[in-house]
Amino acid sequence: MPSYVYDFVEGNKDLKDLLGGKGANLCEMTRLGLPVPPGFIVSTDACRVYLSTGAEPPELGRQIAEHLHLLEGRMGQQLGDRDDPLLLSVRSGAKFSMPGMMETILNVGLTDTTIAGLIRHSGDERFAWDAYRRLIHMFGKTVYGVPDELFEHALDVAKRAAGASNDLGLSAGQLHELVDEYKKIFAAHAGRDFPQAPHEQLQLAVRSVFDSWNSERATVYRRQERIPADLGTAVTVMAMVFGNLGANSGTGVAFTRDPATGARGIYGDYLANAQGEDVVAGIRNTLSLQELEQLDPRSFGQLNRIMDRLEHHYRDLCDIEFTIERGKLWMLQTRVGKRTAAAAFIIASQLVDEGVIDLDEALRRVSGEQLVRLMFPAFDLSHADPPIATGIPASPGAAVGRAIFEAHRAAAESGPTILVRRETNPDDMPGIVAAQGILTSRGGKTSHAAVVARGLGKTCVCGAEALDVDVDARQFTVDGVTVREGDVISIDGTTGNVYVGELPVRPSPVVRYFEGELSPLADPLVAAVDRLVGHADAKRRLGVMANADTPDDARRARRFGAAGIGLCRTEHMFLGERRMLIERLILATDEQARQAALDELLPLQRNDFIEIFRELDGLPVVVRLIDPPLHEFLPALADLTATVAAAQARGEDPGRDGELLVAVRRMHEQNPMLGLRGVRLGLVIPELFAMQVRAVAQAAAVRVAAGGNPRPEIMVPLVGTMIEVPRAALTAAEIATAADFFSFGTNDLTQMGWGFSRDDVEAAFFPRYLQLGIFGASPFETIDRTGIGRLIRIAVAEGRAARPELVVGVCGEHGGDPESVRFFHEAGLDYVSCSPYRVPVARLEAGRATVL
Ligand code: ADP
Ligand code: MG
Ligand code: MG
Repeated sequence: MPSYVYDFVEGNKDLKDLLGGKGANLCEMTRLGLPVPPGFIVSTDACRVYLSTGAEPPELGRQIAEHLHLLEGRMGQQLGDRDDPLLLSVRSGAKFSMPGMMETILNVGLTDTTIAGLIRHSGDERFAWDAYRRLIHMFGKTVYGVPDELFEHALDVAKRAAGASNDLGLSAGQLHELVDEYKKIFAAHAGRDFPQAPHEQLQLAVRSVFDSWNSERATVYRRQERIPADLGTAVTVMAMVFGNLGANSGTGVAFTRDPATGARGIYGDYLANAQGEDVVAGIRNTLSLQELEQLDPRSFGQLNRIMDRLEHHYRDLCDIEFTIERGKLWMLQTRVGKRTAAAAFIIASQLVDEGVIDLDEALRRVSGEQLVRLMFPAFDLSHADPPIATGIPASPGAAVGRAIFEAHRAAAESGPTILVRRETNPDDMPGIVAAQGILTSRGGKTSHAAVVARGLGKTCVCGAEALDVDVDARQFTVDGVTVREGDVISIDGTTGNVYVGELPVRPSPVVRYFEGELSPLADPLVAAVDRLVGHADAKRRLGVMANADTPDDARRARRFGAAGIGLCRTEHMFLGERRMLIERLILATDEQARQAALDELLPLQRNDFIEIFRELDGLPVVVRLIDPPLHEFLPALADLTATVAAAQARGEDPGRDGELLVAVRRMHEQNPMLGLRGVRLGLVIPELFAMQVRAVAQAAAVRVAAGGNPRPEIMVPLVGTMIEVPRAALTAAEIATAADFFSFGTNDLTQMGWGFSRDDVEAAFFPRYLQLGIFGASPFETIDRTGIGRLIRIAVAEGRAARPELVVGVCGEHGGDPESVRFFHEAGLDYVSCSPYRVPVARLEAGRATVL
């Protein structure tokens, strides 16, 4: 017969799947001999049966009765006893902690009858009525869905009538009256009287914990945290201990180290004469643990020893809940505690110093996602007004600047700007690059603005739907507030909040360290980052290069630890004033005019490369030949058509615009993404590729003549050295006979592998996909292991079989995504290349991949 109920002495911390985190850790503390009130756990198996069949497993009732009987024996008390009643807490607890998502009911077993026994036995009438009012409140809310506010309101009325500033001001008699009031509220909303049978209370409480698994807030939380929906929760039933038994009692929460900063030393809050959540609910001012030391040195000393023991046992920061009942300390919960990204690094490094863990383990305790968070600046919110709107936090950081509504204007501004758009598109690039931050009213985490901003390390809040953005009027309005062009706003890419005015910003010390502005000894966080990234470097097999196409980015890439440039795009080298040369090239009607345009481009390109080779002297620089379709360098068809039509309407000759229009029409493609680009363009207009290759070679020659050591490599986009279309992956063996190295362009490979265009689908249906859970993460953010990953594995295997010394890397956005980096390690790639700001993240994750 299946077993659904386990005593605390039967479990241990590794049984979280079965007993939930809270239950498993209570078992562990019991095994360690710590003072834990006895109890038992109804397993997640039972919950899953309940959730799938709608009823408790038939044997559950009897198994609970047996364990209750044992518990009663141990306590020398019985549930429902009128002389000395056993009271219970019924607590939820799933495998993963879901803070505040599901309910716990305290003081189960109190009734109009048993309260007399509780009064007599405790000798404290006030306490007993206080416990009873709490039970009716928690039970009513959790089991029968009675609105919280009704109880809160009745409590407020009672406090006011008694002239009490908080709950402690209510006497036994007043609490008794409050209980009567609570019972009326309960009856009115539950359609029945408050249950007076303790066993029925217990049974309903257990069931409501099961039900709370599917409450809306729990469901939403799980989706956000990617916790599977079918795990179910366990239910812990344990003997009550009372922190509300007068001044020498109380309840508290504590951490073995500061979870916000990682600072050593226990840290926590204590509230005397209180029960349960009171300490975190802000009902009265709490005391610090240092103050508890004054109040109850014996319990404080014991608490300290226990926390020390727990930390050594779990080898990590623990958080705990405890209660002191008339001077006796009880442990009610512990777990490895959540912490900020900064604390994660600091604590991991401290634990190494303390000899608790080794450096490999420290590397497992931090993540690339955390390092990303540490690299963005942050707002100082201490004096801030509330936000005017909240959007989707798409790229973390804190940005302040003047609101500007058009990309070219943002690019022209001299001071810091926030580019505000309904949504962005590739035309907005110059403005995005120039702005401190990007704010859009449409689109999600995978919108153009979001993806580009993350790549550039820019702050971005997108999809702030409350904003009514009017680009023509150069303003947006929200809730009656109008922000005009030039007004200063602040956006927080970590929370999605938008503020009017300038909030003070703190630059990230971690970035300053990578930039070389701060010594690794500057502060504990920087020291920990330095140490762990250093260890990752020592462990990793995967090389880390950077995507950089300006001397500035190249310098930063080097400072941030890149072993070279894995992708130097050349497109931008044809923008700005040089665009005219491309126009001339396209419009050229004879060989001579064409060559003249190319001759002008050559020295410009050569200089671009000379500078980059100088910055990366001695390191490889992979130059990608021009990739996008040429029409991207020409005016838009619609604009041009309008200009020409207008000229014709005025009876004027459209001149050059007319010629351009003919060319643009000729080159117009239904699906440019699948059109004349990359290597195809190179085959149709070979002179452009030839000019670029010549520029690379001449630049290298110039550098060699100057005593430098340039190491250029040339990359042919789409299908060539780059593997960007599925067919290229499937014919890798053949390509490897011609290519010296492979670089996966995973952005294009993802688009073409899935058959959808990023810019289109991210705005259209991705948000819905993410909501429905069809994607956990966008495949443009995190590599799709099963599909695109398979193409990569095939290409690596077949390419290497054909050419064993083939070097294989990746240069898509995925190269800086922690989860994807781990995949590229597994797939046996030689290197990843990512934006300079992601280089440290990739270094860390490449190291972690070897120890996970
Ligand atoms: P959560 O998971 O939301 O923290 P808990 O199950 O930990 O919920 O319980 C809520 C509160 O009740 C906590 O403050 C906890 O310490 C307290 N509590 C739980 N069980 C007992 C008990 N047996 N005696 C006294 N207080 C308890
Ligand atoms: Mg708790
Ligand atoms: Mg590409």
